[in-house]
Amino acid sequence: MADVVVVGGGITGLTTALTLFHNDVDVRLLEASDRVGGKILTSYLRGTLVDEAADAFLVREPHMLELCEQLNLTQDLVSPATGAAKIWSQGALRPLPKKQFLGVPFDLDDLAASGVLSEAGLARAAEDLTMGADAPRADESVGSLIRRRLGDEVMDRLVGPLLGGINAGDADNLSLQGGVPRLAEAAAHDPSLIRSVQLHLQQTKRDPSAPIFNGHPNGTGQIIDALQERLKTRIALNQPVTGMEANPAGGWTLHTPAGPTNAKAVVITCPTFAASPLLADHSPTASQALADIDYASVTFVTMAFDKADIQRFDGSGFLIPRGEGLLMTACSWASAKWAHLGDGPTEYLRVSAGHSGDDRAMHMSDEDVVAQLLEELSWVAGVEATPLEVRVTRWPRALPQYRPGHLERVAGIEEALATDTPGVFATGAAFRGLGLPACVQQGRIAAHAAEAFAAGG
Ligand SMILES: Cc1cc2nc3c(=O)[nH]c(=O)nc-3n(C[C@H](O)[C@H](O)[C@H](O)COP(=O)(O)OP(=O)(O)OC[C@H]3O[C@@H](n4cnc5c(N)ncnc54)[C@H](O)[C@@H]3O)c2cc1C
Repeated sequence: MADVVVVGGGITGLTTALTLFHNDVDVRLLEASDRVGGKILTSYLRGTLVDEAADAFLVREPHMLELCEQLNLTQDLVSPATGAAKIWSQGALRPLPKKQFLGVPFDLDDLAASGVLSEAGLARAAEDLTMGADAPRADESVGSLIRRRLGDEVMDRLVGPLLGGINAGDADNLSLQGGVPRLAEAAAHDPSLIRSVQLHLQQTKRDPSAPIFNGHPNGTGQIIDALQERLKTRIALNQPVTGMEANPAGGWTLHTPAGPTNAKAVVITCPTFAASPLLADHSPTASQALADIDYASVTFVTMAFDKADIQRFDGSGFLIPRGEGLLMTACSWASAKWAHLGDGPTEYLRVSAGHSGDDRAMHMSDEDVVAQLLEELSWVAGVEATPLEVRVTRWPRALPQYRPGHLERVAGIEEALATDTPGVFATGAAFRGLGLPACVQQGRIAAHAAEAFAAGG
């Protein structure tokens, strides 16, 4: 019997397994597919390694940096060459206001200069400074906060697209506390959101010149390769867990097509729609709550152009607000964003389509998606060239949606598991943060809980 079995080999499961491995715990990781990494995947396009999904991680949250340190990768990490993004608004690409925090403007002159808002939208945003306190008590949505304080235009043209670029979600239905805790914290200082963000930035004394993101010049997949190398034989690929049962003498038996695996404790890190059926017979409450978490699907199209055919974009890329009706939601101009992708003869663009409530791209053929995105790139950014090579990556049900009340739902899942299935823990992107640092942090916390259970149980 292993001490701990980890279900799922994305960044969360790999971090759980690494933490246990470093603590000399007998750990095994069962991964359903033929590779580890989950939503992290890097592959060659025109001879260069380019990410098919996550390409950067926040450095303010230390967990991913600490993992890179453990894997001896820190010296290789790079920061984006530019973070200046634009947004499609009023029929043109306009620079995002410089003085904004997660899309929330905190300087009205800077907001006016960006040209993103109409005169009426600017006047409505300014009302925030004089309106009284009007905060609801319960966990509200991001949209509710932004619309009541700063108006619809700030929401539809700034905050919504910016946050949508992170979770492909609808910020009107995104929990402020669970989905964007940094914004919840920044909004808590003063009834005026503008003043509150100003105060928050003063108090946190953030160095504006410090890099916000890091990435690896050979792609995020390098971090997965290093984890796999470290864990080696602890990982079993092509082993989908299809069921589990409690052993009368303690511990759990997990079933896979290759046969049963026994463990004193189990950490489930697969997406919640895959975790839910495993727990249906053991904890109907947890199983139902897991099934209730929605996911958005995205299609990622990476395009490689001959540098001679295309004029480099002035910035790291651009966002398209959902109300514009375009298929494209964002374009990351990867060779402008990353110096290592901009040095060679090829210009790389990573274009995304699809968000919660818009599955059009998932129902279109690859050819049709590419044709439509190229047409939109021509309208929006004047790209008229034909790509030398195109790669289409589908990410069905990939980004968990944190609805208002999300943190209570997660706490309910954890309580139900503690009562109904002692020794079984569930975590990952759908729980307390979907960014890579949050996944690493959650993987470590779950590892410590499982280790303690296995040692005492
Ligand atoms: C397109 C895209 C771009 C992104 N960009 C960024 C970014 O730039 N920066 C950032 O910080 N975050 C980004 N994210 C978010 C981040 O990459 C993910 O939230 C994170 O990688 C999820 O990791 P995870 O281990 O929790 O889950 P997953 O990666 O989903 O891993 C779960 C694993 O469980 C396996 N599994 C499923 N069912 C079973 C079963 N029954 N038995 C065994 N195994 C099973 C799956 O095959 C998978 O390998 C992006 C996400 C997407 C989709």
